[in-house]
Amino acid sequence: MTDKIPTTEVESKPKKQYIDLYEAGSNKIYTRKVKGFYQRLRRYTGIPLLLGFMLLPWFNIEGRQAVLFDLPERKFHILWTTFWPQDFMLLAWLLIIAAFTLFTVTVLVGRVWCGFTCPQTVWTLMFIWAEDKCEGDRNARIKLDKAPWSFTKFRKKAAKHGLWFLISFITGLTFIGYFYGVKDLTVDLFTFNAHPAGAFWVFFFAAATYGNAGFLREQVCKYMCPYARFQSVMYDRDTMLVTYDEARGESRGKRKAREDYKAKGLGDCIDCGWCVQVCPVDIDIRDGLQYECIDCGLCADACDSVMDRMKYPRGLIRFTTQDSMETGETHVLRPRFIGYVVAVCLMIGLFAYTVGTRTPLGVDVIRDRGAKLFRETPEYIENVYMVKINNMGRGESYFSVDVQADETGESPSDYRMKKKYRAYLEEGEIFSLPVSVRIDRDKLNSTKSTIYFVVEAEDDETVHAIQKASFIGPAPK
Ligand code: SF4
Ligand code: SF4
Repeated sequence: MTDKIPTTEVESKPKKQYIDLYEAGSNKIYTRKVKGFYQRLRRYTGIPLLLGFMLLPWFNIEGRQAVLFDLPERKFHILWTTFWPQDFMLLAWLLIIAAFTLFTVTVLVGRVWCGFTCPQTVWTLMFIWAEDKCEGDRNARIKLDKAPWSFTKFRKKAAKHGLWFLISFITGLTFIGYFYGVKDLTVDLFTFNAHPAGAFWVFFFAAATYGNAGFLREQVCKYMCPYARFQSVMYDRDTMLVTYDEARGESRGKRKAREDYKAKGLGDCIDCGWCVQVCPVDIDIRDGLQYECIDCGLCADACDSVMDRMKYPRGLIRFTTQDSMETGETHVLRPRFIGYVVAVCLMIGLFAYTVGTRTPLGVDVIRDRGAKLFRETPEYIENVYMVKINNMGRGESYFSVDVQADETGESPSDYRMKKKYRAYLEEGEIFSLPVSVRIDRDKLNSTKSTIYFVVEAEDDETVHAIQKASFIGPAPK
């Protein structure tokens, strides 16, 4: 008999529905430790990235932190170059290039970014390592969680959370060190002299790391990461993916050692479940392509070790393509992939050219609004301008200002500066210099002509900028 839905007045009112975005408790994943090619590859890709992130801010270049995003000063020091808010477009381009590179890699080899290099994956890997060291392997962890509280359980849990906190704190400290200066931040924090905002963000990012890598883990990939949602549109029949060879594996089932399982209609899958137990997102790859799969290859490692034990050929679960499974052929050079590669190469080339030819000097010329359009004497006509110079280079310098008739400076110019103008600017300083430009009355041949201001660093002639302006005069006689 089925229960009837009550139809009292109160209960028939429309009810609010809630979707719980965090799958708590019951679905806790206890991943089994696995050894194999992809597990090693994850280590070899994750460790250099991790070390790069952790160590980079500790290096100095030209007496300054190698990578420092100095927000109060609005300067972004990246290795030998300093970027300014005016260079924001370059940052936007860098992000676009990174996104297209990710698309290109995804078309070729699926979500390997997620499985091997994504910070969520790398930090989760570290947290699982700490868990394994403190609480033991998968079975020991399941047993420990089921056991009532005791001193041993408390000690193991405390050790694990202590290690997690240490990793999280170092992560928060390093991340904020990119903005604050990691050496100053470390000293300031441990002497309780840190700026309250700096200290707050260290603990904020430590807490975020602790929560994401310690508890949320696969839920970040499944429910929070937007990349997981749209990656499937980049896949095609020749994208390499971790795939279960159904034709070879089915029908799955237990069998006795050395029995003729094929005669019983069984495939190579012995239904041991190891591929599911090692999966960090708790899916069964034998159910086919699933959006949760991060292409980490751990199920392939687990299955290969089972195949070795059974003395079956490896590769029941492997990185392969749909085309390869169906026809035995894979087409690497296909239009979509070539299109992405060409687009990325073009963008990288343009970006490198822009950065390579970028002058660390900003110049803006405006007519002096306080002055008349032009000053007239029997000998010459004079215009007054305000030349705004922005020293975006590393270090202070003297800058000279001159005028020329065309952009190249090759044509002889009848225009001249009233006197030699120069300005001393500290690194990052912006200075407005009033200048006067003159031309002999008999050489003026138009009421409005174009002139070019040239601003140049006196100690480095490669640092120069040209800015166009108009010269106004009376009607020529
Ligand atoms: S690890 Fe391999 S053999 Fe075991 S259940 Fe998975 S696919 Fe089958
Ligand atoms: S199914 Fe395999 S490749 Fe996909 S996430 Fe799980 S273990 Fe990694």
